[in-house]
Amino acid sequence: MNKSDSGEYDFIIIGSGFGGSVSALRLSEKGYKVLVIEKGKRYEAKDFPKRNWNLKKWMWLPALRFFGFFKLTFFRHVAILSGVGVGGGSLVYANTLPIPKKKFFEAKSWAHLADWERELKPHYDTAKRMLGVDRNPRMENGDIALQKLSKEIGKENGFQLTDVAVYFGKPNVVSPDPFFGGEGPEREGCRFCGACMIGCRYNAKNTLDKNYLYFAEKNGAEVLSEKEVYDVIPLGENGVDGYKVKWKKSTGFFKTKGEVKAKGIIFSGGVLGTVSLMLKLKGKSLPNLSGKVGEGIRTNSESLLGVSVPDKDAVFSDGIAITSILHLDAESSVEPVRYPSGSGFWRLLMFPMLDGKNWLIRLSKVAGELARHPFKWLRLYFIPDWAKQTQILLFMQTIDSTLRFEKGAFRMKTKVSSGKPPTAFIPEAQRTAKRFAEIVGGTPEALLSETLLGIPTTAHILGGATMGKDKSEGVIDKDNKVFGYENMYVCDGSMISANPGVNPSLTITAITERAMSKIPIKNFN
Ligand SMILES: Cc1cc2nc3c(=O)[nH]c(=O)nc-3n(C[C@H](O)[C@H](O)[C@H](O)COP(=O)(O)OP(=O)(O)OC[C@H]3O[C@@H](n4cnc5c(N)ncnc54)[C@H](O)[C@@H]3O)c2cc1C
Ligand code: SF4
Repeated sequence: MNKSDSGEYDFIIIGSGFGGSVSALRLSEKGYKVLVIEKGKRYEAKDFPKRNWNLKKWMWLPALRFFGFFKLTFFRHVAILSGVGVGGGSLVYANTLPIPKKKFFEAKSWAHLADWERELKPHYDTAKRMLGVDRNPRMENGDIALQKLSKEIGKENGFQLTDVAVYFGKPNVVSPDPFFGGEGPEREGCRFCGACMIGCRYNAKNTLDKNYLYFAEKNGAEVLSEKEVYDVIPLGENGVDGYKVKWKKSTGFFKTKGEVKAKGIIFSGGVLGTVSLMLKLKGKSLPNLSGKVGEGIRTNSESLLGVSVPDKDAVFSDGIAITSILHLDAESSVEPVRYPSGSGFWRLLMFPMLDGKNWLIRLSKVAGELARHPFKWLRLYFIPDWAKQTQILLFMQTIDSTLRFEKGAFRMKTKVSSGKPPTAFIPEAQRTAKRFAEIVGGTPEALLSETLLGIPTTAHILGGATMGKDKSEGVIDKDNKVFGYENMYVCDGSMISANPGVNPSLTITAITERAMSKIPIKNFN
């Protein structure tokens, strides 16, 4: 391994998602020796599965020895979708990169710390350039229906095609790097195949290994994949002399272990990785962490609904994963989302979309619905190509509801903290899905875990190591430095201290860019 003169790294970054990759590039540019330790595997385009029925390649489920890149984690109050691998969530995400509305920057949970809208503006610009954001050039069937809906409800101006991290060059044609003056990797144009969320097999999706991480490695940053960090031990008082980081192999039969030292640490394991590690270490190697670790867990107050159409000629699977957005009001938006034809795994979890105060009421409503329309549901359940004939609708709101993660006996558990917890039953979302269903001649559905158990699903889990003016208010300061320790930072979704109300990766990228801009270049004396 390539270490610094003192026999150790300057920075170890735990996790290679958005926060980790930005940190790796900017620190390596500043002359620091960087090691990124990543739990998941490294992927090339050919490694991604063709369909999401290939669970072994798609899902991260180590207990079954599935070492894919998509993880589904159930808690009492929320089910979380996330990414695992070199490039983190960028491997599995839907490429959509909007800037949040004003309400996010002015939320009282963090507005007292900085003028966020003004300060983050240049960093959003950099993030967009680095991630290669472009406007989706095509209207798909789902977009036509959503635009029609926008007209019906008088919100025509709220409809637009998405800004996405995709290369829209020529399909099937390999081109020299189109984003960084030829310095980046070769690329192919998007084929509009709808597979972004099961991994792009055509090198068209701008995943982090094609931008931030690519250049970080070019600068000498090292990436140690398939290793999970399980301990961070300060050397000297509060890490003044650095840290010892312990890892274990995450994919082998044998849990080979190792350790490595660095002067600084960046926690970038995403909310599930960073918060669970910090909660564990607070009771062990890092007792000075703020008592706020695990607090302020937010989602985008999402609702993931489906509208399935029995007509076998219906096509909702063409296009990139998310093609348009309709801003319903200042707080709510909805996006049509898709999987590629043949990728119908989610049909196993689909149920009638209903609501009700408790599971008994909902179960009896479901039973009533199935009894009244048995053939309709049978037909829907067995439609030939669920992904092709289903438009998923992702509804999001800026409404602030928070949860808390606590250390449990075996793993973290959720607790309701201030305000209402995220809910699986958002009336506006259900109304929008019903209207959409009328337009396309389909039937709205919800995930079984939402309809029966009332557990909302989120792909946008945020918070848990949020910002504050001091240790009594947050885990990190406004520049992402961890209170109580030297040279320790959190740069990932867990630093997000308010609800952006839209897909968060651009914001994670921009806030990390800001945090990294505050770290001085390495002093070589
Ligand atoms: C299906 C899906 C679709 C999505 N679509 C969008 C979208 O269109 N737009 C958008 O903005 N967002 C989207 N998201 C959300 C987005 O992926 C996340 O918000 C984003 O990836 C979070 O970035 P992060 O920096 O917090 O860390 P992540 O990207 O989550 O990366 C963290 C990495 O750290 C690794 N790690 C964790 N713990 C450890 C450890 N102890 N040791 C070593 N490594 C560790 C993990 O394996 C992972 O690779 C989507 C998510 C999913 C699941
Ligand atoms: S639509 Fe297909 S080709 Fe285009 S970015 Fe997504 S997965 Fe890649």
